[in-house]
Amino acid sequence: MKLPMTGGCLCGKVRYEIFAQPISTALCHCRTCQKSVGAPHLAIFIVPTSGFTVTGNYKEFITIAASGNNMHRAFCPECGTSLFVKNGGFPQFRPVSAVTLDDPSAFTPEKDIWVADAQPWDVMNPELPKFEGNPW
Ligand SMILES: [Zn+2]
Ligand SMILES: [Zn+2]
Repeated sequence: MKLPMTGGCLCGKVRYEIFAQPISTALCHCRTCQKSVGAPHLAIFIVPTSGFTVTGNYKEFITIAASGNNMHRAFCPECGTSLFVKNGGFPQFRPVSAVTLDDPSAFTPEKDIWVADAQPWDVMNPELPKFEGNPW
């Protein structure tokens, strides 16, 4: 993907810049992602925290992952957009919501994860690898 990548929330108060290539991408169908983004799945790409900067104040809602790790789900307190996540067990990485990029078309999903939780009406690309849970 072309660097730096830029993105932000719906109202524009929280903005981020990314100076490192994603190490992984996925479409996550878990129930927590579904609820937190208000959609049948979350398109994410994972970048090194060292190559990720944020401007603007965001809030975090903490959920507990199946691994037992705290998942800090960052959102804009003004417009509610879900932006990125910090996994307490892997603070060196940031999963970022691909649709919040200024150019989301630059994103390419590599796999579907937590497909056991997928909605029967959500349409998946049959060519992508499928994982029942977390492949990482
Ligand atoms: Zn906002
Ligand atoms: Zn998820």
